[in-house]
Amino acid sequence: MPARLIEMAHDAILVWEPDGTIVLWNRGAEELYGYTMAEALGRRSHDLLQTTFPVDLDAFLSAVGMNGEWRGELGHTTRDGRRVVVESRLARIDEPDHNLVLEINRDITERKRAEEEIRKLNGDLEARVARRTADLEELNAQLAAFTYSISHDLRAPLRAIHSLADALREDYDDRLDDVGRDYTRRISGSAHRLDEMIQDLLAYSRLGRAEMTLQRVDLDVVVDQSIAALRGAAGDEPCCFEVRGPLPPVIGHPSTLAQVVGNLLGNALKFHQPGEQPTVVIRAEPSGGRVRLWVEDSGIGIAPEHQERIFRVFERLHGIESYPGTGIGLAIVKKGVERMGGRVGLESSPGAGSRFWIELPAAEARS
Ligand code: ADP
Repeated sequence: MPARLIEMAHDAILVWEPDGTIVLWNRGAEELYGYTMAEALGRRSHDLLQTTFPVDLDAFLSAVGMNGEWRGELGHTTRDGRRVVVESRLARIDEPDHNLVLEINRDITERKRAEEEIRKLNGDLEARVARRTADLEELNAQLAAFTYSISHDLRAPLRAIHSLADALREDYDDRLDDVGRDYTRRISGSAHRLDEMIQDLLAYSRLGRAEMTLQRVDLDVVVDQSIAALRGAAGDEPCCFEVRGPLPPVIGHPSTLAQVVGNLLGNALKFHQPGEQPTVVIRAEPSGGRVRLWVEDSGIGIAPEHQERIFRVFERLHGIESYPGTGIGLAIVKKGVERMGGRVGLESSPGAGSRFWIELPAAEARS
C-alpha cells in the first residue's frame, strides 16, 4: 500500500514482523491509540496494545499464517489506559525474504457500547415484562379463587332461604293470605335467580382456573349437540336452526367449546321480538389456518355502543322481565374462547339481527 494512502487512512494501520515487532504505524494508529510513530516502532504490537484475542494467540497467529488473513474483533488499551474495541483485518504480506503482517483496525467501541446498552435494556425490559406478567397471573389466580370461594360460600345461606320459602308454602299455605303467598313465591323466585347467577359465576371463575388441554374438536358434533339440547329445553317453542355444514374441525377444549356454542345459540334463540319466530344460521368460514364460526340470528339486534360491554360479567341490555338471564353468558364465551387461543366479535344493529362469531385455530381435516 503506498505510504501516502496509509497515512491518509482514517483507520489505524500497523505492520508487524511475525514476532509482533511493529515496523509501520500510521497517523490513524497514533490518533486511536495515542502512541506516536516513534513510540510504537520496534515495540511488540500485542504487548504495546495489551491485545485481547477472541481465540488464543497461537491459534490466532496460525490462522493468519495459514489463511493469509484474519477478520474479527480485538480489544486494545490506549496510551491513556482506555480499553477500545476494534474491528480488525489482518493480512499476511509475503516479502521475498520474510513475511510481515498488515493490521487495519477500525474503532467500534461506541457501537459496541450502544449494542451492549440495547442488549441490557432489552434484558431489563424482558425481566420487567416477565415480572409484570407473573404479578398479573398471581392477581388473576387470587381473583378467581376469591370469586370461587365467595360464590361457594353464598350457596349455603341461599339454600336455606330456598328451603325455608318452600317450607312456608307447603306447611303454612292455609295460614297465608294472597299477599303472603305472593311474597313467598317472590322469595323463591329471587333465591332461584341468585342461585343461577352464582352457578354462572362459578362456571366463569372455573374457566379462568381450569387446566385446558387443547385438542381437535368436531364443530359439527358440538353444534348438533347444542341444538339438540336447546330444542329439548325449548319444548314446543317454534325455532329454526339452519346449519350450513359441513363445519370444519377446530383446535379447542371440548367442554368449553360446547359451553361457548351453547351460550351463543341460546342467546340467538332468546333475543327476538315476542311473537316472532327466531331463525338462526350457523356457518363457518375457514381462512389462513383459522376457522370463524358465525351464529347469525334474526332477532332484536344490538346497538354498536353496547357491543363491547355485553361481553363483561353482569352486563345486560334488558330487564329480567323481558328476557331472562344472568348476564354472564357472553363473558363465559369471551373468556372460554380466549383461553382456547381464539377471538370473539359481532356485527349487529338494532332491529337487524346479530351475527356473533368466534375464531379458533383450524384442525387438520381427517382424510
Ligand atoms: P344473558 O343472556 O344471560 O342476559 P349474556 O352475557 O349472554 O347474558 O348477554 C349479555 C347481554 O347481551 C344480554 O342481556 C343481551 O342484552 C345482549 N345479547 C346477547 N346476545 C344477544 C343477541 N343474540 N341478540 C341481542 N342481544 C343479545
